[in-house]
Amino acid sequence: MSQYVFPELSQPSLPVEGDGRRYPVARVFCLGRNYWWPDATAGKAPEREPPFFFMKPSHAVIDAQGELNYPPLTEEFCPEIELVIAIGKSGQNISVEDALEYVWGYGAGLDLTRRDLQMAAKEQGRPWEGSKAFDGSAPIGAIVPVSKIGHPSTGAVWLKVNGVDRQRSDLANQIWSVAEVVSHISRSVQLNPGDLIMTGTPPGVEGIQRGDTVTAGIDGIGNLSVTIKHSFLEGNNNV
Ligand code: MN
Repeated sequence: MSQYVFPELSQPSLPVEGDGRRYPVARVFCLGRNYWWPDATAGKAPEREPPFFFMKPSHAVIDAQGELNYPPLTEEFCPEIELVIAIGKSGQNISVEDALEYVWGYGAGLDLTRRDLQMAAKEQGRPWEGSKAFDGSAPIGAIVPVSKIGHPSTGAVWLKVNGVDRQRSDLANQIWSVAEVVSHISRSVQLNPGDLIMTGTPPGVEGIQRGDTVTAGIDGIGNLSVTIKHSFLEGNNNV
C-alpha cells in the first residue's frame, strides 16, 4: 500500500440500479453534437462530420439527486440531458462490430455547461474546459447494467424545467451510435473499466435559474431530478 502525504480524495462513483455496490468512475469523455440541431440543418441535408470529444474530471461526477449549486462565473447555466455509456472492459482500436462488448451499462446524465463561457471560448479559439469541467458539472443517475436492459437503441430522451418541456428527442435520432462512439474513442486512447462517455444532447438547451427544478430522463434507462439552490453560499456549509 502506498503512503500519501495527505489523505487522498474519495473515489468518484455512481449507484448501480438494483445492486448495493457502486460503479467506480475513471474518466469522463463527452461527445460534441450528436443530434441534428435546427441551426445545423437549415436548408440543407445534414452530413455526418467526424465526432469530437472533450472531457470532464472524474470528480465532477455526482449523484443526480437533491440540490445542486449554481456554479460561479456564469449567467447562462445550461443542463443537457445525455445518454451515458459506462465502460466495463479495457480495449483499444475496437471495431464497431465488437464495441458493445465493452459496454457495462447505461445511465441518464446532465452535461452541465456554463454556455456563456463556452461561446466566449469558441469565439477566441480557446479550449472549452472552463465551460464544461467545473465542480459538480456531471450529475448522473444510477448505472443500469447491460445484463438487465441490453443495449437500448430507442427511447425518449427528455428534459423539463419546472415541469415544462425543454428537450425531447429519441435515442434513435443519435447521429453516432453507441458502438461507433466507443470504437471511435478507442482509436485515440485505451478505454478502461470506469470510463464514462456522455453522448451529446438533443436541441432545446436553455439556461436555468436558481430555484429551478430540472427533471430529465431516458425512457427504459432512468430518470433524475435536481433543484438548483437559491444562493451560492447557502449550499457551501456542508461541502
Ligand atoms: Mn453535451
